[in-house]
Amino acid sequence: MEDKPANNFLQAIIARDLANGTVQEVVTRFPPEPNGYLHVGHAKSISVNFGLAEANGGRCHLRFDDTNPEKESQEFIDAIQEDIRWLGFQWHGEPRFASAYFQQLYEWAEYLVQQGDAYVCDLSADEAREYRGTLTEPGRNSPFRDRSIEENLALLRGMRANQFAEGEKVLRARIDMASPNMNMRDPILYRIRKVTHHQTGNEWVIYPTYDFAHGQEDAIEGITHSICTLEFEDHRPLYDWFIEHLPVQSRPRQFEFGRLNPSYTVTSKRKLKQLVDEGHVAGWDDPRMPTISGMRRRGYTPRAIRRFCEMIGTTRSDGVVDVAMLEFAIREDLNENAARAMCVLNPLKVVLTNYPDTAEVFTVSNHPSREDLGERDLPFTREIYIDADDFREEANKKYKRLVLGKRVRLRHAYVIEADEAIKNAAGELVEVRARVIEGTVGENPADGIKPKGVIQWVSASEGRTAIVRLYDRLFIDEAPDKGDKDFLEHINPDSLITVETAWIEPSLAEAVPEQGFQFEREGYFVADRRDHSPQVPVFNKTIGLRDSWSESA
Ligand code: ATP
Ligand code: MG
Repeated sequence: MEDKPANNFLQAIIARDLANGTVQEVVTRFPPEPNGYLHVGHAKSISVNFGLAEANGGRCHLRFDDTNPEKESQEFIDAIQEDIRWLGFQWHGEPRFASAYFQQLYEWAEYLVQQGDAYVCDLSADEAREYRGTLTEPGRNSPFRDRSIEENLALLRGMRANQFAEGEKVLRARIDMASPNMNMRDPILYRIRKVTHHQTGNEWVIYPTYDFAHGQEDAIEGITHSICTLEFEDHRPLYDWFIEHLPVQSRPRQFEFGRLNPSYTVTSKRKLKQLVDEGHVAGWDDPRMPTISGMRRRGYTPRAIRRFCEMIGTTRSDGVVDVAMLEFAIREDLNENAARAMCVLNPLKVVLTNYPDTAEVFTVSNHPSREDLGERDLPFTREIYIDADDFREEANKKYKRLVLGKRVRLRHAYVIEADEAIKNAAGELVEVRARVIEGTVGENPADGIKPKGVIQWVSASEGRTAIVRLYDRLFIDEAPDKGDKDFLEHINPDSLITVETAWIEPSLAEAVPEQGFQFEREGYFVADRRDHSPQVPVFNKTIGLRDSWSESA
């Protein structure tokens, strides 16, 4: 399962290229379109591109593929950079922009026209579709395909000079309308689009297509290995065609790997945007979102996300990855690195009738095996809260928590024994009266009657209240957007349950935003990076201690 960068197929290609001198230095790039926030699939692409460069002493560029100005924005540009840095990667030099190459790309378009390799076509979108043919039928040549070089050049310059309406003309490559590869049937290079661009303002009214831009951008930057996902495999002949037909400075090559599709997740930016725009979640960084910023706010760590990307490997198949593997990586990381603390989610007061009003303070370790994570003070008082689920008036032997007349150990503190259940007029349990058993801190009871279980607790007078958001998977369906399923119909109605008044031990109020903890017996939690403060502590549930989804399945 382990897939160190050193043994995936891309590394094998790179190693061969370095060994036989095809390339001197490995240069990769991560090319997001700034039209949304990065998601877990992008994390995979980032770890592949940056990882291969790092492993081979090369460099990786960050290039914004900003050729569709309508849907792009500075907000996304900023968020993408923040997310990549947070994952622990640093691009070489400044971020780059496809738009910075618009002039060069345009000159290459004129070059193709002058070589007789491109022409201006007046077919409408509908007509063009019809001329294009189908997978089983060849296309037909556009009636405009044989315009003279001079006419094409004049028309292209006219397109650029804003002499035509949107949709009136496009520039197309002159390749082969009968090619079995639809991408080679005279693909579009430029469209007229009269929109302001976030980088170039109103300088351009024509914009290059992805196909005409991407490989040339790679060539300009000296990218050696242009790594993308499998859906671009059929575009590779076109990628190569442009590189062969243009006077480019270098010869990048494209390689594809399988997209990451985790189960119980959607990774299409369009759908993620819809979840945000329609208010199904609170924003792009809602902790239920599979975005990098959402995972961050949920308490996932960069280390765990990177580990997951390694674990799943890099292959040429497009399978679904069990999201439990991601959750496993998170759990494993937090188990090792998160400090322990106590939180009571469903508080039930326990009065320790034989305990004095003066508090004791225990100094306890923050982690069972990591001394470097230090110690904290834990005040113990006459009144405490335990979780209501941890008490029963009667129970069978399987129940190892507090029962009337029986004992339980309070974590890091005394063994107690329950004497009485106090109820209100409605017959509801409101309080438990119990006794501490003397001399049981760190010791078994002298009378030999050992407690069966250990439960968490918080001092009622020294503890603090907190808002705790219990997050679960956003979708209840394993493949929420497979085929023609409407992913919105599979949203988990219980993906967020907010506990308004949980009790936390006092040290937790001092948590810094984004600090992660294991709340003993409850799971892993993180101080919310936006809302948490010492005055109003807010914690988000990262993940439970065990995989409750596979257990119930
Ligand atoms: P989406 O389909 O979600 O809109 P995209 O592919 O259009 O994503 P880009 O911003 O163009 O998003 O992607 C930047 C890079 O990330 C591309 O190289 C793309 O192949 C890669 N990438 C996107 N989604 C995934 C994924 N699920 N798994 C692996 N790589 C991905
Ligand atoms: Mg894309």
